[in-house]
Amino acid sequence: MKTQCDPGYGLPHEPSYWAATGYKGSSPSGEVEGDIDCDVAIIGAGYTGLSTAYHLAKLHGVRAHVLEANRIGWGCSGRNGGFAMIGIGKDSYEGWIRKYGVQGARHLFDYARDAVRSVKTMLAENDIDAASPHEGYLYLAHKPNRFNELKKTQNLLKDKFGFDTWLLSREEVRTQYLNSREYHGALFHPEHISLHPMKYVQGLARAARQYGAQVHERTPVQGWERIGALHKLHTPKGSIKTRRVVIATGGYTPDYLHPAVSNKLLNVLSNVIVTEPVSEEKLQQCGWKTHQMLVDTRMLRFYFRLLEDKRVLFGARGGIVDDARSNMKTKAWLLKRLSDFFPALEGVRCDYFWRGHVDIARDKYLHLGDAEGGSVHYALGYAGTGVAASTYSGKQIADRLMGKSALANIPKLSTPLPRFEIPSLRRLAQRAAYGYYTIKDEWF
Ligand SMILES: Cc1cc2nc3c(=O)[nH]c(=O)nc-3n(C[C@H](O)[C@H](O)[C@H](O)COP(=O)(O)OP(=O)(O)OC[C@H]3O[C@@H](n4cnc5c(N)ncnc54)[C@H](O)[C@@H]3O)c2cc1C
Repeated sequence: MKTQCDPGYGLPHEPSYWAATGYKGSSPSGEVEGDIDCDVAIIGAGYTGLSTAYHLAKLHGVRAHVLEANRIGWGCSGRNGGFAMIGIGKDSYEGWIRKYGVQGARHLFDYARDAVRSVKTMLAENDIDAASPHEGYLYLAHKPNRFNELKKTQNLLKDKFGFDTWLLSREEVRTQYLNSREYHGALFHPEHISLHPMKYVQGLARAARQYGAQVHERTPVQGWERIGALHKLHTPKGSIKTRRVVIATGGYTPDYLHPAVSNKLLNVLSNVIVTEPVSEEKLQQCGWKTHQMLVDTRMLRFYFRLLEDKRVLFGARGGIVDDARSNMKTKAWLLKRLSDFFPALEGVRCDYFWRGHVDIARDKYLHLGDAEGGSVHYALGYAGTGVAASTYSGKQIADRLMGKSALANIPKLSTPLPRFEIPSLRRLAQRAAYGYYTIKDEWF
């Protein structure tokens, strides 16, 4: 069974709500046909690749060529939940402190916080109309004992990172935000923002192009050779000779691409449904009064939000195999869980269902590594929290490509992707982990 994905060639977007309401047509640069010479080639037109291209062009005058197998935003960047969160990888704040000390952990937190700011700046400076006006998110305790953990998290965020959050009792959540017997209080985190992922990724592409970058769709890199100091990337109808390459392929990184990233990732499915618009009456029965982002404390967390047109977006990790049978099962499972949480939504129609692969590194951290004497760079391992981190990583890669020091405070982030001890056992380990998380989430 595949553990890293092949992106394909010239595929349309997933049939997501975001594609239906935000896709505006293809890039004018078109597919690469014939041979191109350039200074920097970037593989992948998601947030990482496009932000790198944007910052290279805007800050350093370097006009990169972005090579995308399918369409702009075809990967996670066009199909995520739209939560631009303060987060890096999957380790806990306590884990950060244990491993890197309070100062090291604070640098990580500040990086993640700056990442959200970088999204706000990107939106404002380039007139990208993709943000929702509702800032902040509620971290919902799915069991009474998780509420005590939220109190500890609140103290840690304040004491160690100087970040203020607000604790909300079960009653406050019930009367002011949403009334589900599932939740036992929440921690409100400010600053996080929600957005329309497809509008955002297209806005990024437009901004990068305005500064001189070229974005080629239908251009999968299928082969890679080294010719002296140059890299030659082979695509179906041509090739790109370049001095430097950025790998920005997220959860769709094929194993054959480059040894620096081969067998270094586990791609994991995240799944989303969007319902039909929900009537005011039903929303009242759910006590649903907020458009704020909502995430629960499960290890296999549910994430959801009420969209502006009163549809509910409801998502979760789950499933191992990406095929038609598993799609049907997962869609039905998400609808069932939605009505478990909100019985008034029983029978509500699902208008959209889609899935995507998120990229997880062996140590569950983000890595901005380089290889081949600094001529190859990558940012991989977002672990499902990549909307903000990928935007910011693009700037870091652009700076590093130009020889500027970046990430000096956070050496961990610039370490190479670690290998899985036995790569062929990744799926087996994932199945075991899912079993363990489910027991922990539902029974303890
Ligand atoms: C369902 C879902 C929900 C999510 N929700 C959230 C959320 O709410 N908040 C959050 O922070 N994160 C979320 N994420 C994760 C987040 O979307 C990603 O971390 C982020 O978009 C990664 O961006 P990227 O540019 O690195 O990769 P991607 O956007 O995946 O882009 C990689 C691109 O590389 C291309 N590619 C791959 N190989 C090649 C090749 N050989 N040649 C040419 N092109 C190639 C692919 O076609 C793809 O378009 C979610 C992910 C999923 C799947």
